[in-house]
Amino acid sequence: MVDMNQLQALFGGTFDPVHYGHLKPVEALANQVGLSRVIIMPNNVPPHRPQPEATSQQRKTMLELAIADKPLFTLDERELRRDTPSYSALTLKEWREEQGPQRPLAFIIGQDSLLTFPSWHHYETILDNCHLIVCRRPGYPLEMAQKEHQQWLDDHLTQHVEALHTQPAGKIYLAETPWFNISATLIRERLEHGENCDDLLPAAVLEYINAQGLYRSAPGASL
Ligand code: ATP
Repeated sequence: MVDMNQLQALFGGTFDPVHYGHLKPVEALANQVGLSRVIIMPNNVPPHRPQPEATSQQRKTMLELAIADKPLFTLDERELRRDTPSYSALTLKEWREEQGPQRPLAFIIGQDSLLTFPSWHHYETILDNCHLIVCRRPGYPLEMAQKEHQQWLDDHLTQHVEALHTQPAGKIYLAETPWFNISATLIRERLEHGENCDDLLPAAVLEYINAQGLYRSAPGASL
């Protein structure tokens, strides 16, 4: 019999700041596919993007506040402690080595990340160590831009949740998660303009942002 309670998933990102577009699809996913645990792993030096506005400590604190009442989630700080680039391929290899060869492991990404996935450092090795579970994200096409990348996707796709539990790695599952048209960029922009973000992220995170004066334009910056 398939044990549907063993699948652990890792969810990486910059989380600058964490928002409902991160949390709610993953909570829905946990019910849909049966995840025993989601390990949130904020990255330190995202290789392909500008540095975050909040410090590592602030992003970590915001995540702690966001998951305080959500036992599904735990936080892993290993990438924050490194001062080298956070390459998912390396982190997932390390995680696999810790967990042994048999245990099913998954890496959660949004649809936007799937589209850029083939540009990631050693992307093709990631499926050697885990499954890929993709959450829907409004505004991003479902097809890969290049034929060879679509072929790679098709070669690994599964529509069977059981495959994520019976095999340790190697499958891609496109989950039917609810759509949230929220991004950290949108939140930073809204806060910079003093606009309301109540519906976009947990209240405790928003209170912390306000107390720290995060994501405000520097006084006199527009002069
Ligand atoms: P930014 O706007 O600063 O680029 P972001 O909102 O995209 O940030 P990240 O921390 O870069 O957030 O994302 C971490 C992970 O969460 C990525 O895999 C991303 O695809 C996914 N994600 C972020 N927002 C959403 C959303 N609204 N719906 C589904 N997935 C999302």
